[in-house]
Amino acid sequence: MTISAPHQKPVDQQTIVIIGGSHAGIACAERLRKLGHTGAITIIDRLTGLPLERPPLSKAFLKSDAAGDASFALRPDSWFADNDIIFMDGCDVTAIAADDHQLTLADGQTLDWDQLVLATGAYPRPLPVPGGDSDQLMVLRHPDDARGLREKLHLAETVSIIGGGYIGLEVAASARTLGKNVSVIEAADRLLARVASTKASAYFDALHQSHDVAVHTNAQVSAIIPSGQHMTVTTKDNMSIDADLVIAGIGVIPDMDIAAAAGISTGNGIMTDTCYRTNKPDIYAIGDVALAADGYTHGQIRLESVHHAQMSADIAAHTIMEQPAGLHEVPWFWSEQYDQRLQSAGLVPAEHETVRRDGRRDGQISFWSFAADGSLAAVESLNDAQAYMVGRHLLSADQADQPVTIDMIADPATDLKALMRR
Ligand SMILES: Cc1cc2nc3c(=O)[nH]c(=O)nc-3n(C[C@H](O)[C@H](O)[C@H](O)COP(=O)(O)OP(=O)(O)OC[C@H]3O[C@@H](n4cnc5c(N)ncnc54)[C@H](O)[C@@H]3O)c2cc1C
Repeated sequence: MTISAPHQKPVDQQTIVIIGGSHAGIACAERLRKLGHTGAITIIDRLTGLPLERPPLSKAFLKSDAAGDASFALRPDSWFADNDIIFMDGCDVTAIAADDHQLTLADGQTLDWDQLVLATGAYPRPLPVPGGDSDQLMVLRHPDDARGLREKLHLAETVSIIGGGYIGLEVAASARTLGKNVSVIEAADRLLARVASTKASAYFDALHQSHDVAVHTNAQVSAIIPSGQHMTVTTKDNMSIDADLVIAGIGVIPDMDIAAAAGISTGNGIMTDTCYRTNKPDIYAIGDVALAADGYTHGQIRLESVHHAQMSADIAAHTIMEQPAGLHEVPWFWSEQYDQRLQSAGLVPAEHETVRRDGRRDGQISFWSFAADGSLAAVESLNDAQAYMVGRHLLSADQADQPVTIDMIADPATDLKALMRR
């Protein structure tokens, strides 16, 4: 079947197709409607069922039972009809004909579009060792992964997690909260090496050890050996860990094969300008898959966070509607592990100097990282919403002429709120 849509309609009446019905895709459709778009909007996703939020999948969802799954819906079922948005679930887009403004689904059906938004996200990086392709090795990205993981987690006694990034550590905390014996195996010399300051890494290492998680850094997995219902993980330095359940969380690969095959420029993501336009007319890329020219860092960057999914969706929707888009904001992120809520703003550079501040109440801590040129680069706060808010404000582009120094932050007498009022 071919659903055709004539091109060259007024922009607010054009046919928009969004590939990917997760945080970025749904936010884009929602924003388009709010901006007055009245034409057809179709969201296509290869997954089946109502889209669920991703962040809880490693946190509350893992600890809950199946009866409450609907409470994790990204939008209620009625949202699609209420906003006149067609949602095609269980449909895999297999090809894009960029010049013809058409795409093809796995069943051969074709769809025409005036504007196409690629919100295809990313998929778990495979573990490149013998046994890394075992069916028993679990990954966590989408709701179906989380459902399978939850079922096995409840039955397991010992759990081993390969990868000490945020997702691995959140799963470790959830598993530990459920009373499992947990180990984390990380190849780098510290947890969260790609994203956190060295001080925050050390904090999370100590936090997990205090909850009796066995944390192994500098440990490179050499093989996964399934044996019956169990698995053995071996490392290059001859460590051997047996577990009922092994989960690999070693990062993701942007889902961009259909874009590359369509002649859209790609690198470590689909390349876009600051408005999330690709090199092909009328095709945008947003969310985790976008390798965007970033107006905040002034670099080409691919960010994996709900905030970026929403911000990129918002900017792309404004651009499609030919309305002025907002500026890129300082990136922010959150994580929850045990009773700790991390909120971070900014990006920690590879080379950084970090000072720790203790908040007014017990257990409130923040790490303030400065780049080599002395400028504030990132704030990571634990159970300290005020430090996060002040940090995010000081990191915003319009504060560049009001710099804070490491000495100001290191001085316990400095009133953080007063820094906002300068
Ligand atoms: C377990 C977990 C916990 C997280 N926790 C946090 C957190 O605490 N804080 C935070 O800020 N971020 C968190 N994140 C990251 C955040 O969820 C992602 O940044 C966000 O989901 C990105 O949204 P997206 O729409 O770009 O991509 P995705 O969520 O990856 O969605 C892409 C969608 O596109 C579909 N798709 C891809 N290709 C095709 C195709 N060819 N045809 C049809 N459909 C296709 C996929 O099926 C998928 O549904 C977490 C992520 C995970 C997995």
